[in-house]
Amino acid sequence: MVCLLQNFLEIYSARTLSSRSKKIEVKSLETGETRHLFEKEIEELLDGENALLFCDDERSFAKLKRLPDCVNEDLLRLCFSYVAGSVETRVRYYLSAMKQLTTDLVALVEDLLPSGEAVKRFLIHGISASVHHTSWQEHVCSKLQRIRRQKRARKQIDLSEATKLVFAENGLLEGIHETYEFRQEQLQTAMEIAESITLDKGILLESGTGTGKTLAYLVPVAYHVLSSGRRAVVSTRTRTLQDQLMQKDVQIMRKLPELDDTRICSLKGRERYLCPSRLIHFMNSMLHQSPIEERSKEALALLLWSLVTPDADLDRMRVTEGIRNAVSSNRFDCLSRLCADRTRCPYYIARENAKNADIVITSHSLLSSEIQMRTPESDIDEGILLPRFEIMVIDEAHGFEKALTDSLTFTLSSGEVMEVTNEASRISEKIFTQDIRTFEESFMESLKVRLSELRKAIDLSAKKLHGLINQHIVRSSMALDGDELARIRQALQDLESFLRGLSSIVVQLNEVYEEELLEHPSLDSVPYTDKLRVLKSRVFELIRHVSGICHNDNNRITYVTPSEVPNNPRISSSPIGNDALVSETLNTIPIKIFISATMWVFSRGSDGFNYSRRILGLQDDFHALKLGTSFDFGKQLRLMLADDMPEYYQNSDEYLDSGASFIRDVLNIVGGGSAVLFTSYNDMEYVVSKIHRDLKSVELKVQSRSESASVMLAEHSISDKSVIFGTQTLWEGIDLPGDKLKLLIIFKLPFDRPDEPITRARIGYYGQNSFMEGLYKYYYPKMITMFRQGIGRVIRTKDDHGVVIVLDKRIADSARNYSVKLLNSLPVGLAVERASKKKILATLRNLKKTKWLT
Ligand code: SF4
Repeated sequence: MVCLLQNFLEIYSARTLSSRSKKIEVKSLETGETRHLFEKEIEELLDGENALLFCDDERSFAKLKRLPDCVNEDLLRLCFSYVAGSVETRVRYYLSAMKQLTTDLVALVEDLLPSGEAVKRFLIHGISASVHHTSWQEHVCSKLQRIRRQKRARKQIDLSEATKLVFAENGLLEGIHETYEFRQEQLQTAMEIAESITLDKGILLESGTGTGKTLAYLVPVAYHVLSSGRRAVVSTRTRTLQDQLMQKDVQIMRKLPELDDTRICSLKGRERYLCPSRLIHFMNSMLHQSPIEERSKEALALLLWSLVTPDADLDRMRVTEGIRNAVSSNRFDCLSRLCADRTRCPYYIARENAKNADIVITSHSLLSSEIQMRTPESDIDEGILLPRFEIMVIDEAHGFEKALTDSLTFTLSSGEVMEVTNEASRISEKIFTQDIRTFEESFMESLKVRLSELRKAIDLSAKKLHGLINQHIVRSSMALDGDELARIRQALQDLESFLRGLSSIVVQLNEVYEEELLEHPSLDSVPYTDKLRVLKSRVFELIRHVSGICHNDNNRITYVTPSEVPNNPRISSSPIGNDALVSETLNTIPIKIFISATMWVFSRGSDGFNYSRRILGLQDDFHALKLGTSFDFGKQLRLMLADDMPEYYQNSDEYLDSGASFIRDVLNIVGGGSAVLFTSYNDMEYVVSKIHRDLKSVELKVQSRSESASVMLAEHSISDKSVIFGTQTLWEGIDLPGDKLKLLIIFKLPFDRPDEPITRARIGYYGQNSFMEGLYKYYYPKMITMFRQGIGRVIRTKDDHGVVIVLDKRIADSARNYSVKLLNSLPVGLAVERASKKKILATLRNLKKTKWLT
């Protein structure tokens, strides 16, 4: 890569020179000589406005002659203007120029390079012209930051005193953070955590919204690791929150006395990191692709980024899924200790950093994988994915059960199996027509025959599986057991052995190609090695899921679900009792801190934390505490119930139609900055189909079944007219302060479907004595926690005002026990206002008029 940039710099200087003299001087990177080359032909090329020359040798020049147009010269002027000094100096200069222009490299490339064709040529030619592939490889990801292993003297710190000094009124935080405001609730949260650490025990803490709980746990934990030499792991719900914590809260924390050199690192799953080895394969394969504008731009941006990134975290780089899959670290494709790139491998550096860190910030999903992989026999000192740790903080702990379930679920469809085998056939057909010289013809022929036999066997097996699964599918998910499950397991075992055969052939083909490339370098082979690598990963991943579903475990449930793709149901296997797994794996961690804004559920005769203790695998006497919020919900939020709505019944047309017309009327009054939350895509899509034509001055943003909601949320946040229609993940996944979310409509109470297999199995698991017991211990509190999360979306700051309208009358039906629990679990000062739909509409008009709802 450096060589590529060097080419650019050398050529740019030549270009400047040429405009004066009409002669081109090109310094050969091989010999260092300066030569005058091909004046005539070059003059012809320079007649074009945007001429770019890319020639460090005659071979490159020959290729250059075929280029009809060139990269925009503005790019050269802006980013690659000649700077004296070493390559490193030039790269640094380039970097600072890039930073000044924009932080979004892709957008920059897009602005500066209007011609995708030219970018493509730039990329292809730059790589092929470079005769220094080795040096390019050496520099990819060479800037990765490592945390130095160092012995540090322990400090004597009084944790309570230090915490008080930081969070008290007129305390240290106010001095170092301009916009910081003292919050009593934050001080309380921090002091409780400091005390639980001092006593060497854990705490389950509900700390209301707006208290600044992240700093409240981070600071005492940091002072403790400094004085004790222990290591802490902090787990956040999503990778986005993990990044936010690193970029915002950690930076504030570092300004506090003694904490500036706390060794903190972020650790993600390996697939989030760039693999330099795969990147080089990918870039080579780009040479053989037909020009695709967007792909070329992305590849260019990725290449540049790889040179300068401090950690090669792909979450910081906007690339499409296809490119990400081709270049990210992948355990099936990783040579690990045998890899020549291992010393500068971002994933292994991140793991090494974790071992040298005081605090490791990670996500629930990685922690879940650690829990899954650790066994009582595991070497705790080494850890598996995470190093040994003595303090564990689980932030947004209400969501940990789901993260664990997702991480431990195996799933596949027969369609996926067919897709992978078709891909294997497609690639191999191309390969078998090539002239492979390194291996005997007879060997290649035997591979071909085996592959063809396996393909037939896998097709038959996948069809059989499809038939077995399909007969159980009507509209919803269904649990499998008894003979049916035994038959399906048998079909899966057959499939697994065929897939293992396929994987061995794909591995051999991959080796054949890599060896062929070494012995007889031919650029034609490169794209196949890349495709074979991706295929190999897909086959291994399929085997992992098939084998996971086959595994006979009483603590799991196997079930079929209809898929988004017609006639392609999925079979899955999920754990039922996560609590047992968590407590077994984590019982050796001395200090466990669980914190969230929604851990508590009103319960007569108990402290309200039994549900949280239950799902987190904690003992009945695990210390728990509920603290207040910094917001005044009584003044900031109005919670209204439309009490003339029909009763809710599943698939009730009356409820759906009445709800749809009321939502339309509400949105036509309030307009943008609103959201409607559903619990099923079917209900949401029905309502949208009924009202979308009648909505005035509103832009509808409807959550997609297949795509992530992040783009939709980003679009919402820049529009005044946008209204979100969402389900499931959006109940706790929206953070839109101010007028971006001032009205929330809750279509139905967020109960899971009781007939959904995992839910039903868990109701049974927690209700060993009766179904009702399961409802009280698990089903109702889960719904209440979700409801509290939902209404928490509206008030994000002290200045927010908003309205929540609930259409489901069950919330205020005193005959239902869960309704009493729910109403008593609402934030202090918040009461339900019951009114007719007509009256609610009138109230909304009035709130708009008085500017309360703006
Ligand atoms: S060690 Fe594995 S992940 Fe790292 S660069 Fe090598 S192949 Fe890629």
